[in-house]
Amino acid sequence: MMRSHYCGQLNESLDGQEVTLCGWVHRRRDHGGVIFLDIRDREGLAQVVFDPDRVDTFTKADRVRSEYVVKVVGRVRPRPAGAVNANMASGAIEVLGLELEVINQADTPPFPLDEYSDVGEETRLRYRFLDLRRPEMAEKLKLRSRITSSIRRYLDENGFLDVETPILTRATPEGARDYLVPSRTHAGSFFALPQSPQLFKQLLMVSGFDRYYQIAKCFRDEDLRADRQPEFTQIDIETSFMDEADIMGMTETMIRNLFKEVLDLELGDFPHMSYAEAMRRYGSDKPDLRIPLELVDIEDQLKEVDFKVFSGPANDPKGRVAALRVPNAANMPRKQIDDYTKYVANFGAKGLAYIKVNERAKGVEGLQSPIVKFIPEENLNVILDRVGAVDGDIVFFGADKAKIVTDALGALRIRVGHDLELLTHQWAPMWVVDFPMFEENDDGSLSALHHPFTSPKATPDELRATPAKVLSRAYDMVLNGTELGGGSIRIHNRQMQQAVFDVLGISEEEQKEKFGFLLDALKFGAPPHGGLAFGLDRLVMLMTGAQSIREVIAFPKTQSAMCVMTQAPGAVDNKALRELHIRLRETQKAE
Ligand code: ASP
Repeated sequence: MMRSHYCGQLNESLDGQEVTLCGWVHRRRDHGGVIFLDIRDREGLAQVVFDPDRVDTFTKADRVRSEYVVKVVGRVRPRPAGAVNANMASGAIEVLGLELEVINQADTPPFPLDEYSDVGEETRLRYRFLDLRRPEMAEKLKLRSRITSSIRRYLDENGFLDVETPILTRATPEGARDYLVPSRTHAGSFFALPQSPQLFKQLLMVSGFDRYYQIAKCFRDEDLRADRQPEFTQIDIETSFMDEADIMGMTETMIRNLFKEVLDLELGDFPHMSYAEAMRRYGSDKPDLRIPLELVDIEDQLKEVDFKVFSGPANDPKGRVAALRVPNAANMPRKQIDDYTKYVANFGAKGLAYIKVNERAKGVEGLQSPIVKFIPEENLNVILDRVGAVDGDIVFFGADKAKIVTDALGALRIRVGHDLELLTHQWAPMWVVDFPMFEENDDGSLSALHHPFTSPKATPDELRATPAKVLSRAYDMVLNGTELGGGSIRIHNRQMQQAVFDVLGISEEEQKEKFGFLLDALKFGAPPHGGLAFGLDRLVMLMTGAQSIREVIAFPKTQSAMCVMTQAPGAVDNKALRELHIRLRETQKAE
């Protein structure tokens, strides 16, 4: 080994000791005849001082530039009083440089690594190998590694087996488009990259492995509007002979341990909430419970009013009318209300009605609002009482199709909560349970809300009769308004699996063609089983406080699903295409 210590690990206890450091020149300063080099490695920085009395070493130190790779032999000593740097792990000491070897030179980096500067993400990703040298980035990847190691330890100690599942496989429906890989040996046929190891982990249960996990790469070819990556990592878990309470309990303990070990935080017990309640009170299936605002239903007060905007949805079985009280915000400027109106329009809301509660004692006079004239005072009072409005509050209203109101007010709740800094605490973990089995598409057909292998809370006959009413045995773990993980108890009975496929409109032929192996496996003694998967990238993002999952992935893709560093995806030559039995269309060839 060339080095005796990492730079970031030097401290006062090494006073007087000779150390050998290997790393990169982070910064070079010339202070009136003395040269300071900050040397950096993955653990941090160390300040090395070169005095002119060692002419040879001093001359070398004078010539090094940023990002040169060097080896330094020196002696640790306390920094002079007043020169201690509390921001640096090794800030109480410095190293007197005795020998300096330049191991490799470096061109001037395309962006400075020694100070935070607003370099565009494209440039950072193009030179990701340099970007990752920045201490902030190194910290994130180190934390990621500690997170996976804590999780592996927990699962290993609890009897889980780490089993790998194939990457070249058949489609696994998780609701996204597949990445396809053409087969050379089977002309015209394609592998799909797994959207998740779902079916394989279920088959491992049929094989009797009981407790499985894998830190698995998954691939989903989605439109990358949100903070998503085409390939991402899941902590994938499956168990047999455990019910949802067992699985939630065990994985909740895993996450609690993780936060304790890595961040020294106590999360406490996670509350459980039904999907219906989450949608009703928070307008979201992943409520952010740090924000103390709630949606309140008020249809019953508006059925008779002479104002179609409200009475229409109030009388429509698929409509919803709800209010959102924001305390102490009656002084909100017009401009901000206009901004919020535009914001909710993204969710389909046609407007954003409001009442500013200036002085309730004055009755209607004390309310400032474009809508109060349409609502009888009696109903107004019930509404204001129900939302708990007091002087100084503003109350927003949504009236439309239920989905629009729920989405719009749910999103507004989050936005206002952050804008007005209303968050009451830092960490809000929870479970959402009792999801519907299916959701209705615009054309009236049904899709599985989780995936089609989720066990419904119904018999096959009930499922066929009223599929839209049936709940499932699915559960999601939510942290601060982000879905951290989700899973379910699975179907282990062939008739039930076929009933779900039938409801989804998958013909018997297609069932055999696509899922024959699963239906087969269910015939040969499948145990009751269930599990879940956590999104590792999101988990690390939340735990590091990063703003995007790209910040916690070593080599992420851009928003347009490419790698600007390796220039993937790239063209392939005609010979390779021919071997794969592929001919490009004229338009693509020309590009
Ligand atoms: N396969 C599911 C997913 O990727 C997770 C699970 O049901 O365990 O969302």
